[in-house]
Amino acid sequence: MKTVGYAAHSNDAHMTPYHFERRALRPNDVAIEILYSGVCHSDLHTVNGDWGPQPYPLVPGHEIVGQVIDVGPAVTNYKVGDRVGVGCMVDSCQACDQCDHGEEQFCRNGMTPTYGFPDRISGEITQGGYSKHIVVREEFVLSIPAALDLARAAPILCAGITTYSPLRNWGVKAGSRVGVIGLGGLGHMAVKLAVAMGAEVTVLSRSNSKEAEAKSIGAKGILVSSDAEAMAAAGASMDLIIDTVPVKHDLNIYTPLLDIDGSLVIVGQIGPLNEPLTVPLVMGRRRVAGSLIGGIRETQEVLDFCAEHNIHPECEMIRPDQINEAYAVLKKGDISHRYVMDMSALEL
Ligand code: NAP
Ligand code: ZN
Repeated sequence: MKTVGYAAHSNDAHMTPYHFERRALRPNDVAIEILYSGVCHSDLHTVNGDWGPQPYPLVPGHEIVGQVIDVGPAVTNYKVGDRVGVGCMVDSCQACDQCDHGEEQFCRNGMTPTYGFPDRISGEITQGGYSKHIVVREEFVLSIPAALDLARAAPILCAGITTYSPLRNWGVKAGSRVGVIGLGGLGHMAVKLAVAMGAEVTVLSRSNSKEAEAKSIGAKGILVSSDAEAMAAAGASMDLIIDTVPVKHDLNIYTPLLDIDGSLVIVGQIGPLNEPLTVPLVMGRRRVAGSLIGGIRETQEVLDFCAEHNIHPECEMIRPDQINEAYAVLKKGDISHRYVMDMSALEL
């Protein structure tokens, strides 16, 4: 199938229109017309080469929402016209213990990310959601509940699941005290989801310029991470901190905010951090951990959770030809919500 998208051609991360082919349907494949595509900071890290050399040309995008336009003969769960989503993975071995218990992101044989990796069967490089169409095996297709507005659902597929999974894994519930570092795409979803779980949420930000946004989505307020006095006063006041900062940074200013047995979970920036101090960890049995997206079953769960609790990501709709400007804003961290591309603005 012929399609068109926006691709990076080198690590200057400059996106330009790109015509390419999607594979012919395999028996268990679903063909999707992409209607909306979220812009994740991981897309920028990838095309920028922050995570190593890439197989350019590369079409990023792993917050994909659209409708089914065709299905292979063995597909049982989807039919033409269904509202569907695709997140960060498009395949895994489907046979190991991790795939068996629904954590395909940790597939022992390596899951196949939505873009930039060889397809398990053809070896062709996967291409993501900044495009008009995608073809995905049905096990990796999600159903978008009727209560969700399609135009505002895409960021749940990455920003939503990546923050929902640690909130659930660390048992956040009514009365939990949660900190969220960085009020961007992931951070704002962490706030909304934790608030819906009954937590009291504080945003840790570089300044108080996003205070109004933080409060409008349910946070108690902002703690400015460079305000040493306010940070000291907030010592031992949090059970869980979700760290979404996309650049190398210092954890040592955050770990003392955790109460005894508290955890700081890193989801941002894959790479080295400044050296952690052991004192706050040892002296309070505090933990520093990491978390990667979530399995397919849990991704459906967060979509259903958002539908049930009427949670929509805060989306700023842009045209695909505005992607380079959007990246410039992401680079500075000047965003408290998510850019979402309206793919109908892209002509075949
Ligand atoms: P984003 O929308 O750009 O938000 C990042 C936020 O971090 C900014 O809004 C900013 O908030 C804060 N920040 C602090 N220092 C910064 C700096 N020097 N430059 C820019 N921002 C800074 O990013 P995102 O899409 O939420 O992604 C966040 C990170 O999570 C990225 O590294 C991404 O690759 C990663 N990620 C991980 C997973 C996973 O599975 N683990 C999944 C998706 C994304 P304040 O202004 O409030 O400080
Ligand atoms: Zn992402």
